[in-house]
Amino acid sequence: MKRLLAAFAVVGLWVLPALPAHAATDPAAYMNTVASHLGDPGVYVDPGVTELSESEIAELDAAAKSAAAPIRIAVIPASKINTSGNAYYVELAWEGEEIADQLYDRVGVEGVYAVLVDAESESDGRGFHAVQRADHGPTYYVGDAVDEAVDCCAPNYEPMLKQFIQRAQIVDKPFYVDAAPFAGGAAGIIGLWCAVTGLGARRERRRDEKNHLEVTRPLLNEEIIALSQQVSELPTTSDPQQSKLSKDVLDTVEKARHRLDAAQGDRDVEAVTTLLGSARYGMVCLDAVRAGKPIPKPTAPCFFDPRHGPSTDQIEWKPDDGAARNVDVCAACKQRDVDDAQPQIRMVTRVETPRPYWEFGEDLGAYVDGYWSRGDGSAWWFPDSDFRRRGEEMRSRWHSRRPGSRFRRFGSSVGSTIGDWAASSSSGSGDDGDSSWYGGSNRRSSWSSRTRSSGGGSSRRSSRRSGGSRGF
Ligand SMILES: [Zn+2]
Repeated sequence: MKRLLAAFAVVGLWVLPALPAHAATDPAAYMNTVASHLGDPGVYVDPGVTELSESEIAELDAAAKSAAAPIRIAVIPASKINTSGNAYYVELAWEGEEIADQLYDRVGVEGVYAVLVDAESESDGRGFHAVQRADHGPTYYVGDAVDEAVDCCAPNYEPMLKQFIQRAQIVDKPFYVDAAPFAGGAAGIIGLWCAVTGLGARRERRRDEKNHLEVTRPLLNEEIIALSQQVSELPTTSDPQQSKLSKDVLDTVEKARHRLDAAQGDRDVEAVTTLLGSARYGMVCLDAVRAGKPIPKPTAPCFFDPRHGPSTDQIEWKPDDGAARNVDVCAACKQRDVDDAQPQIRMVTRVETPRPYWEFGEDLGAYVDGYWSRGDGSAWWFPDSDFRRRGEEMRSRWHSRRPGSRFRRFGSSVGSTIGDWAASSSSGSGDDGDSSWYGGSNRRSSWSSRTRSSGGGSSRRSSRRSGGSRGF
């Protein structure tokens, strides 16, 4: 919230007289300015646009920040990117999806980008353009989202954008979303059936989640205490980058503590472990900075024990009762493997003797999901198939009576952690153009204070996953 207010303060200072619709001085430079407001997912509205009120903007911004997909939306006046040199006809510097791509190029982080160009009419340049760029992670229905937003609500910006944010975070799995070619009566009956059976399913799910919390709360408490201890032992420093990093790590651990204190279910557990994973990654970044080394890319946690921190290597490992597989491990675990020593596995005691944490597929599902989440809706691969299967079984038990709810789960479980990061992270973004960095950059690149050059024009774009463009 504080950040949001700060953003408005900046906007407030940045009120320029709205230009008449003649040629913009420099569309590329203008896009740099727009991009600088969208380091984090959210909505930026040029002060020259009067169609949206401050409270509408705040609401849209919050919706975009808590969406499952990293969504960035800019609403800009056509005049700012008009190159025609006069007010009589408009020639935008870019056309269609390319307008959204211009924003993506400048922010430089994978995700969904949308630009609503504000004008009196379509011939004046009014239109809505969006694209999803990503090499990894889920695909979103961005093209459909543009169509639906325009069809439902144009030319009213507020409901258009609301519709777009809702629709653009649905994962592109046509089978689940659009498999029901039902209309009218059939849909009504299905709706009624969902309403009746949904209640029982929700109750069952709440009960399950309460049990999970009983198992995970003591583990997480212990982890938070240990991590706080580590953080408090960090040496004080006069180097601004180092002290910023230690402060970020400290804040992150505190955030995890608060989230756990107020925890009610799986999405809280997931958020807590995502935060703890990020804090450990922050410590690694801090070590790197102190040693004068480059900041490492975020990686999956050490498989044997996520408390070991980010993995740095892979080894082949075969459990007593399973097939050999490659697992990501920390440096110490790698060394133990080289020395032929036993791995140090995170053991969890529920009722009887301690067992490896991954044998608790249901109780620790959210715990693992949070640790293995990249924070942008995608996840690192968790290499235990039994664990994944048990989690799937549990979710299908919750959902078998609620068609379509896969998406609600996706949105709620991931959205919360992204929301946290959007609220807490600064506007850092990968600047090396390496796609593997992007996956985690949404939540993790805040450790790096690097920002992409705002010269515009990316040397390399991630794959276009979907997109759409409509004048109206
Ligand atoms: Zn390890």
